[in-house]
This record gives sequence, C-alpha cells and structure tokens, in this order.
Amino acid sequence: MEVDLNTLAAHAGSRHDSGAPSATPIQPASFYLSSGDPGDLAYAYGRHGNPTWEALESGLGDLEGARSLVFASGQAAALALMLSLADGRARFVLPDGGYYGTRKLLDLLRPRGLEFVNVDMTDLAAVELALTATPSILWAESPTNPFLRVLDLRALATLARAAGAPFVVDNTTATAALQRPLDLGADATITSLTKSVSGHSDVVLGSIATRKSSILDAARNWRANAGLIAGPFEAWVALRGLKTLPLRIARQSENALSLAEHLVTHPQVARVYHPAVDPRSKTLAEVQMRGGFGPLFSFEVKGDAGVADRVVAGARLIRPGTSFGGVETSWERRARWASETAPPNLIRVSAGIEAIEDLVQDIDRALASVEPRKP
Ligand SMILES: *Cc1c(COP(=O)(O)O)cnc(C)c1O
Repeated sequence: MEVDLNTLAAHAGSRHDSGAPSATPIQPASFYLSSGDPGDLAYAYGRHGNPTWEALESGLGDLEGARSLVFASGQAAALALMLSLADGRARFVLPDGGYYGTRKLLDLLRPRGLEFVNVDMTDLAAVELALTATPSILWAESPTNPFLRVLDLRALATLARAAGAPFVVDNTTATAALQRPLDLGADATITSLTKSVSGHSDVVLGSIATRKSSILDAARNWRANAGLIAGPFEAWVALRGLKTLPLRIARQSENALSLAEHLVTHPQVARVYHPAVDPRSKTLAEVQMRGGFGPLFSFEVKGDAGVADRVVAGARLIRPGTSFGGVETSWERRARWASETAPPNLIRVSAGIEAIEDLVQDIDRALASVEPRKP
C-alpha cells in the first residue's frame, strides 16, 4: 500500500500483530541467549544487533525507500560509510561551505591513505574535473550547512555515475521528510539524527540509508566490529522523534523562511543565506525538495565578530548554542568554531516551532541591543 510520508512517519517502527505492545520496547541487552552454533541468529551479541535499533531503522528506511542502519552519531555513520566506500587510497570530493565535521574526520583519516578536496559543487564542470582527475567518492550535502547552498543532486549523480564514483549525500539539513536523495541518484545518504529527526535536542545519533546491499553489508560490518553502535535508549528517543518529524519540520521550515525574509530588509543585516533567498538555490530546491526548505538559515550582521556575539547573547527566547533541528529556536556565531570557514559575523539560526511573532520580536530585540548609537 502506497501511503503518505506523514503516515509512514507516524507508524515508524510500529507493529500491527496481535499482542504486540503499542509502543516499541527499549531492549537493553549485551547478549542474547543461545548455545551451540550461533549461525544466523539475528542477535547474539549486543554489537551485532538490537530490536530497538531495528524499529528505528525500519521507520527511517520507510521514509527513504531504502534500508537504513543507525549508529552512535552522525560522525560514526559518516565514518562507517567512508571506510565502506574507500579502497584505502580514496579521495573524497566535498562541497565548498559544507559541514566542517566531515573535513575534520577526513583530516584524521589522511595519514591512513584517505584524502579530500573541496569543490564548488554549484560548478558542475569543476566537479566533473575533480572526479576524473583520480578515482574518487562524491560526498555532497544539500542544502549545505551553514551556507544553505542547494546543489543539483540529479546532475551530480549523473557526473558521479559517468566517473564510476560512489555518490553520497549528507541529508542532515533537509532530512528524508523534505528530500530523498536516493530517488535523485545517490548511492547512499548519511543523516545526523541528532538534529531534526530526533528533534528535541536530547540525543546524539546518526544513520545511513542505501538501496545497495554491498554498501549496507560493509557499513554494518564496520558498525559491528568497530562498535560504532547506538544505545537502545537513544534509538528509542530518536524513534519517538521520527514520528512527528514531518509536522515539526514543516513548521520549522515556515518559521525559517519567515525569519529569513524578515532579515533580508533589516538595516543591520548585511546578507541572508537561505535556499529561497538565492534564486538559483530556490529553483533547484523547488524541483528536488518538497514541503519546505528546512529549519536552517544564516545571516551576516553588519559589524564584526564582537557585534555578532552580542546579538546572539541579546535574545531572550532564542537559545544560544550549536546544533540545530530542535523544537526551540537556537542560534550561534558559527566562526567561533576554529575549523569553520564561515565569515566572523555570520550567525546560523535553527528555527523551532514557536509562534513566528514571538521569534520576530526576539530577533528584533537582539539586533536592537547592538544598534549603533545615533550621533
Ligand atoms: C551535525 C552534523 C553531522 C554530524 O552529526 P553528529 O550527530 O553530530 O555526529 C553531519 N553532517 C551534518 C550536515 C551535520 O549538521
């Protein structure tokens, strides 16, 4: 039966058989009873499998139309995927202005034979060149964090296929509720469930999804043997969040869009980064996303890092801090992280589900608190 995304999410991981519990149980177990040859026991040891992970994986897989695996964090999921795709001497092609943690992880792997280059992925000729120079893995992200650039995933998939390069999309900012990269030609996605999917700022978790059993098997092998595993409680918390993901992200997307539009004409704002504010990104997003542009946007406040820090501290409602995707709006000056390439005055905002009037009032108050005094 073909059902809508909202329905799939609400029923994520739920059982329908007689006698099944109404809610997914949390299953804490380090091992499962067995004797003799464990053979193809679904579970034997806690690193290999867990029913609570599987409930979450079935829900995530339904949303992506694929098989999914959960990991201890988005970074653990990325690591497993990198190691699964790399042949030991592989080069990763990353987008300019993408998530800095991906670069940090590959920096750690550099002495182990992996390397990366950054490419402006809005420039398809540059991507093609990068892919043909040496065997590579194309690792895109759309919209990018924190610049919210929308990349043409279908076109990137075509280039990757032509070059024989595996194509991965980091789907954290959009989530499967707004975008299904596997339908656009990606071989695998990685998602930090820490953000919008769990959605309540209370858990660190990650996942991958793929329709290719070779990738799934390799990543599962890394997860089991390197122990990149989720706790059953964390998986349960994320599953609970997943059920309301479409509702929350629709509201967050509306709030993010309204706030971004409000700031475009604000006299103290130099630049706004949001998919709908950039005509190129908007056209693409309308083709490859559905139901919203996501909870994130960024803006540059007029002034230096000190001014931006004071704006962040000047809010009463909007909470200062990193991460995103929670029900409460939060923000941070992004360049306070040393490896981040954002300009010093860029503030990244994660819109929550509050009433928009309250958020507009709070942002205006924070900006007014640093307003230059009239002579
Ligand atoms: C947060 C994030 C990650 C890493 O996820 P963790 O759960 O923090 O390990 C990966 N990609 C993007 C785009 C992110 O925002």
